[in-house]
Amino acid sequence: MSGAPATPKNFIRQIIDSDLQSGRHSTIHTRFPPEPNGYLHIGHAKSIVLNFGIAQDYPGSCNLRFDDTNPAKEEEEFVEAIKEDVRWLGYEWAELRFASDYFEQLYGYAVELINAGKAFVCDLTPEQVREYRGTLTEPGRESPFRDRPIEENLDLFRRMRAGEFADGSRTLRARIDMASPNINLRDPALYRIRHGLIHHQTGAEWCIYPMYDYTHPISDAIEGITHSLCTLEFEDHRPLYDWVLDNISIACHPRQIEFSRLNLEYTVMSKRRLTQLVQEKRVSGWNDPRMPTIAGLRRRGYTPESIRHFCEAIGITKSEGTVEMGVLENSIRGHLDAIAPRRMAVLDPLKLVISNYPAEQAEVLQAGNHPKDETLGSRELVLTREIYIDRADFREEANKKYKRLVLGGEVRLRNAYVVRCDQAVKDPDGNIVELHCTYDPDTLGHNPEGRKVRGVIHWVSATRGHKAEVRLYDRLCKSAEPGKGGNFLDDLNPESLRLLSDCMVEPALAQAAVGERYQFEREGYFCLDSEDSAPGKLVFNRIVSLRDSWGKGEDD
Ligand code: ATP
Ligand code: MG
Repeated sequence: MSGAPATPKNFIRQIIDSDLQSGRHSTIHTRFPPEPNGYLHIGHAKSIVLNFGIAQDYPGSCNLRFDDTNPAKEEEEFVEAIKEDVRWLGYEWAELRFASDYFEQLYGYAVELINAGKAFVCDLTPEQVREYRGTLTEPGRESPFRDRPIEENLDLFRRMRAGEFADGSRTLRARIDMASPNINLRDPALYRIRHGLIHHQTGAEWCIYPMYDYTHPISDAIEGITHSLCTLEFEDHRPLYDWVLDNISIACHPRQIEFSRLNLEYTVMSKRRLTQLVQEKRVSGWNDPRMPTIAGLRRRGYTPESIRHFCEAIGITKSEGTVEMGVLENSIRGHLDAIAPRRMAVLDPLKLVISNYPAEQAEVLQAGNHPKDETLGSRELVLTREIYIDRADFREEANKKYKRLVLGGEVRLRNAYVVRCDQAVKDPDGNIVELHCTYDPDTLGHNPEGRKVRGVIHWVSATRGHKAEVRLYDRLCKSAEPGKGGNFLDDLNPESLRLLSDCMVEPALAQAAVGERYQFEREGYFCLDSEDSAPGKLVFNRIVSLRDSWGKGEDD
């Protein structure tokens, strides 16, 4: 066991502690059980950090198991993406399993249930099944097929498997209690017929597929899972989970414990909605940097550490709630502030000519990579007569609060000299196209005497810098609870992506590599886009702004 965690243990870890103390278990086995019907999102990360985190901290292990019982919606692409995402988050599974590995065993246990009079083949149509089920206030009615002789059930179930019956014509159902106040116990379906599907693992071998509620407990038990952790919507399914294991000949009986799922403001998380965004091309794909998917967050520039930290910070409880997007953003901000080398990039370039700087001169200046961490070293900047500054860093006139360049005023070029603006050159329409300045050669590393310099601005050499495209991302949705009282598509944020195609970045950024993250001083945190960058083509994603300015308008 690793050292005691600084924060109090969540209720699940407390249960595990007492199960270890009482001798009920000596090692702990968990699993993360995604259905391969989409990419993982930040909500799944919560479950991954919980399950794999427990396996790391206790003597234990965690399996990655694909809950692949619905081949109509599942694909190998998703299997591979999920494996990549779990590894990227920093975890390795003890064993890789598929629920479909257990299809033969699951079939055998179903035969056991039939033999024990605990399951029957039902010929009701799906509509009739619904009709017979009853409601929350009314008990259900028993199927007319409920008391079929065991031999007949065995024969029909075998023939279901053999492919003799059409989709929807028959199901295998548990024989529990149609009057139960818990609808999940009203003779739930265990198997359904699905012809013509090619399963990504089992191909065309099966035409009957086990239901999730039947498959899950048995898969857990086969793997020797001690604690089966799932989200709260399965609380009402727990009696069925226990019923299945109590009625078949398997010794292991994992303990199901529910916790609340993660909901995050300003985004959507259900796979149905995420799939819709991808299919309707509202985003560029599952890894669009605006998506709350792990693949999207990775491409956006999030670090695995920041996601793990976020999942630990929000904690594990049974109370439902929605987490503010700012909590996730602060997690990456905090991490990048500590580790990201500083660079200069001008997103909206305005040319500045230093009139008294020799045209042929190119001065190499050394600049530290991080103000608080010297171990991150330094890089070379090049100052030339023509440079770019950001258009927002100049005004012809402004009051004292404006800490940037004004006509006749002085400002420090970050890591270089103080310049004074002498002239703003305009085109016939009155737009400023160029600034003419003079620099004071005596101001490298110290301020001029007796004069006030307004502030410090960043810059990039016009001749030694590099062109870049910069993508400014914002929240995917413009409302905190997308789709509340309407279609979530109407709540998509039309300004979630702003493309800036004429940016200039300092020379050192020509060597930027995918996976590196930088602070562009005064602008935010950025990384090279993994998909659209190419040699000689720099495309940067904004990971997150420097401060949380959501809803506060322009920051200055
Ligand atoms: P969705 O509702 O987004 O489609 P799901 O629950 O159907 O998700 P699964 O692939 O079945 O997705 O989930 C795998 C595991 O991840 C489950 O144990 C599930 O409870 C957990 N999980 C899914 N979404 C969240 C979430 N938002 N917060 C915490 N855990 C989650
Ligand atoms: Mg699911």
